[in-house]
Amino acid sequence: MPPSETAKVLIDGVGELIFDYLIPQGVTVEAGYRVKVPIQHRRVLGTVIRISTDESSSHNLKPILEIISDEPLLTEKLLQLAEWLSAYYCAPLEHVIRTMLPASLRKERSFDKSQKVVELIKLPDEEELLKLEKRARRQHELLMTVSNSGGAVAQRLLGTGVSSPLKALVDKGYVRVADEVVKRDPDAGDSFLPSQALTLNEEQEVALKRILEAAQEQAKPFLLAGVTGSGKTEVYLQAADAVLRTGKTVIILVPEIALTPQTVRRFKSRFDQYNHPVAVLHSDLSAGERHDEWKRLRAGDAVVAIGARSAVFAPLENVGLIVVDEEHETSYKQESSPRYQARDLAVVRAHMEGCPIVLGSATPSLESWHNVQRGKYELIKIDKRADDQSMPRIRIIDMRTEARKAEVKPVIFSEKLREAIRMRLEIKEQTILFLNRRGFSRSALCPSCGHAVQCPHCSLSLTYHRKDDRMVCHLCQYMSIPPKKCPECHDPSILFAGYGTEKVQEITQKLFPKAKVARLDADITRRKGALKEALEDFRKHKTDILIGTQMIAKGLHFPTVTLVGVLNADLSLHTPDFRASERTFQLLTQVAGRSGRGPLEGEVIIQTFTPHAPSIQYARHHDYYGFAEQEMEFRKGFSYPPSYHMIVLLAASKNEKLAQLTLETIHTRLKEKLPDRERFPIILGEVLPAPLEKSHDEFRYQLLLRGANPRVTSQFIKSVLDRNPIPPEVRLTCDVDAYDMG
Ligand code: ADP
Ligand code: ZN
Repeated sequence: MPPSETAKVLIDGVGELIFDYLIPQGVTVEAGYRVKVPIQHRRVLGTVIRISTDESSSHNLKPILEIISDEPLLTEKLLQLAEWLSAYYCAPLEHVIRTMLPASLRKERSFDKSQKVVELIKLPDEEELLKLEKRARRQHELLMTVSNSGGAVAQRLLGTGVSSPLKALVDKGYVRVADEVVKRDPDAGDSFLPSQALTLNEEQEVALKRILEAAQEQAKPFLLAGVTGSGKTEVYLQAADAVLRTGKTVIILVPEIALTPQTVRRFKSRFDQYNHPVAVLHSDLSAGERHDEWKRLRAGDAVVAIGARSAVFAPLENVGLIVVDEEHETSYKQESSPRYQARDLAVVRAHMEGCPIVLGSATPSLESWHNVQRGKYELIKIDKRADDQSMPRIRIIDMRTEARKAEVKPVIFSEKLREAIRMRLEIKEQTILFLNRRGFSRSALCPSCGHAVQCPHCSLSLTYHRKDDRMVCHLCQYMSIPPKKCPECHDPSILFAGYGTEKVQEITQKLFPKAKVARLDADITRRKGALKEALEDFRKHKTDILIGTQMIAKGLHFPTVTLVGVLNADLSLHTPDFRASERTFQLLTQVAGRSGRGPLEGEVIIQTFTPHAPSIQYARHHDYYGFAEQEMEFRKGFSYPPSYHMIVLLAASKNEKLAQLTLETIHTRLKEKLPDRERFPIILGEVLPAPLEKSHDEFRYQLLLRGANPRVTSQFIKSVLDRNPIPPEVRLTCDVDAYDMG
């Protein structure tokens, strides 16, 4: 008898239950299959993660009950990636698999959308046909329709009242009714004009050449740093095209939904015509659409996957290129378990696939920039806009002066911005107004002098905590009493609050009653399809002024926008986050890059209370490298990322004391077990209330760790967590390479 094979099965729905099962004789199972297995008296679903032929271990094992997928859903490489992710990000493997597979595929029942199809079996002979025509007109008609449509017609197209004639035809053996799987197409109804490759300029040519060379050798990941409008997308398109022609597949990651309709259009229109079908994966798809797109990729019916962060798990084989567009975007980080960073994971996947990877941005993340400086990534630069357009002119408006003049506060529009909008309306050009209203945490900002209350030890803004009525630093625990007036200029009108996009829309409409004003933010786009519509309206110039949050800062391309107004550049600057300056620089540069993308020259007006902040000044001069250099110094000085990896442990519970105590116990254990300081430097912080102290009735405490080596740090934390059970009333999360400090 051949040695029995056993399968390691990861059980659905629990943290990390993995059991061995016997594979029944004659049944083929590979890693990646979905199966049904017994646990005690229940039958549960799970994923086979490994097969072994070790005979000694097969004693007393229960057999797998049923194979529920007709193929392995996860490839060898994806399983390998899953294990890597689980270890690096301290996340249960079950969460990882759950993220990798669309929900529909993890169910037992097939989710394919099917329709009834009437298929021709055979036509009757002449004589019979003539009889039908005379005595059963309806049957004859139906039969002819089916026959004339190439032998198969969707039943619903045959019209109503066909049931009995149809049944008669079935009984006579001329036709049969079958279920046919139809693919849902998320872009049904859109047409894609074929787009031709542009002739690349010199810088683009060099970039393309380097990327294609890398397909031959095992090269480092590329950081493609090209100013906004430099034609990076055209480089991705041509690189992808070349790779597809060699029979390989391509994965393209774009930030969350904002980019998708436009990007998808650009990619589909280029590839479809060469018979390189594209599948799309993003959060605006219905479960059914997602399922179908995934299946097309798995079956090889689509060879290009475009999508937001989860597209890094696209079930493609033979991957020849991975592109991460706008690689600095924080939406690549998933903020629920598993808390992976899709850009970094894409680099790992490319390494496993042995294919080139291109990370592109006008404002690369400091993490990627750090990797260039350490020689881990190769830099490709594009310094000019494609077609030699000039960069938009950026003007900084000092809102302190505006506020002094104004009678009503807060001032939303400076005189210059109001005038610039009025002029655009007159000459029928479009305006984008940007307001980054983000987060719950509020800093104290003086509207007269622009002073923001900062920590004396950290060069970070303090956060106001209403509960204790204190200003707190979230990195070093420094505390102070909230100022009653500005500590600098003694103005008593120090602000803790701000205004949002809705308010701005109202005021804009009042100021310009004839203008068509639209708003685009998370509230608006909750409705499926709303984003696509709003962008489409703007593109067709049905809207004059578009007001929005980050959502409109990303990668959009509107040739008739000539004015971009940033209402309050300080909002992102004064957040209790060491990345505040980087985020501000990126936002301003990206928003500014929306202006002047056509033949018309662009203008950008930035309103700020802190006109001399480095992030604002470097953005104004379109100087990424200058910004990166000084920001890197600051990060190094405080051992912040990217020189160190930041890990946030968060304990949340309805029982406040318990949340705090749990984390303090973990803190003590971590302190006892800290590895050798010389070899593995780890900086352990203190247990503190999180910036968002209470959420959904839960109290939240956090503990920050910074480690030079992320894998050692993750392992260290995991070893401590595994030995110290967490009370069931507390939720403990571990966020490796955290972005959200909250
Ligand atoms: P990026 O992705 O770097 O922001 P895009 O790829 O969106 O830039 O390009 C900006 C604009 O320049 C687009 O309208 C694009 O069609 C155009 N463009 C890109 N490359 C060229 C080229 N080589 N010649 C002419 N126009 C180009
Ligand atoms: Zn501090």
